[in-house]
Amino acid sequence: MFANSFKRTQRFNELILKSHMDAQMRAASLGREKVIDGTVGSLTMGGELVTFPSVDRLIPALDVKKISAYTPIQGSGPFLDAMETLCFETCKPSRKIGRVAVAGANSGIHHTICNYTEPGDIVLTSDWFWSSYEPIVREHGRRLGLFTFFQERRFSLESFQESVNSVAQLQENIAVILNTPGHNPTGYSISEDEWGRIVRYLNSLKRRIILVIDAAYIDYAPPEYKHMFSKLNRLNDNTLVIVAYSISKSLAKYGLRTAALFALHRKQEIIDEFERVLSITNQATYGCPPSLGQYLTAALVANGRALADYYQAKRAVIEMLAQRAAVLAEAVDDYLLTPYRHGFFVSVRTDRGELLVEKLRREDIFLVPVHGGVRIAICSLEREQILKLGRAIMQHI
Ligand code: PLP
Repeated sequence: MFANSFKRTQRFNELILKSHMDAQMRAASLGREKVIDGTVGSLTMGGELVTFPSVDRLIPALDVKKISAYTPIQGSGPFLDAMETLCFETCKPSRKIGRVAVAGANSGIHHTICNYTEPGDIVLTSDWFWSSYEPIVREHGRRLGLFTFFQERRFSLESFQESVNSVAQLQENIAVILNTPGHNPTGYSISEDEWGRIVRYLNSLKRRIILVIDAAYIDYAPPEYKHMFSKLNRLNDNTLVIVAYSISKSLAKYGLRTAALFALHRKQEIIDEFERVLSITNQATYGCPPSLGQYLTAALVANGRALADYYQAKRAVIEMLAQRAAVLAEAVDDYLLTPYRHGFFVSVRTDRGELLVEKLRREDIFLVPVHGGVRIAICSLEREQILKLGRAIMQHI
């Protein structure tokens, strides 16, 4: 074995894409209509990936020389301006904003963890979480700490406070990742009222907090959910907010690996430090982030007509997702489902998720087990498939 002593013992455990491949292989042998694939977090209709024509049409017009060239390590200015516009819309924070382009929100979270926590630190998130957080924190010798996400189907401020308080006894910086709105894998969106209470609590602490908002699905919640940024304006200087915002889901350009990280704080020196340390990590990993996604995003925001068409198409997708979630709620008892509000996923609560997934596979239904249950990617399922899958869940759970 040649890998270093830490890596030698690690297993590559990427269940989502692997289960998706299994489903595709099954569909190739049985016929697509016989297989239900609720594994992967990409929007599909009739088995085809959904993209936005208003965005796609801009690609052939991009300057080939520009999209082939390197961009600055921190990202191009027009791209970062465009990402600010798309992410915050009318709710631009009234504080200083640091900006760095990254190759996907995935690396944005990775870069944040490696710059703002120490080896051995605990990084907090909810007990339902996107499975990649685990390898991301482990890669740099950090650990994931979990607080209970829900109390009676609402955000459990109590558990959040308890976990933050206990981590505060152990380490200098307290890093917390909150994935909202449209949380993966539950579909929960933290409400404005809940944000108000989170902010009041964080302001009461005399500790440095790194509040990472993983906003990967923010554009699949109604625009008023962006009011959370106004609540965050009330945070005192002990908290640095870092927002991860990506074109993967927002523009349905998953493979272009393009995202931005925003740092929100009142002090310029904190913003300067953020841009400096994040640029170093870009330089030390992939160099500059991919060019194509940066030019495409800037072109979209510069084109008023295309932008309006995109917003209109996205409103229809939000409506479609709400309908799919409602169909699932018809088929599966309410108490078994996580409290869905928006986004691509809902989960079934069970402590025997792997067993349920196994039983469903025998009926050619492919889902992914997660901590706490089984994730259903409603983003990739049609009404009839959701009904069939719901009935199968009720039979096997
Ligand atoms: N955050 C969450 C919660 C996700 O579900 C995903 C992708 O599935 C990401 C971040 C990663 O997004 P990106 O494609 O921008 O790396």
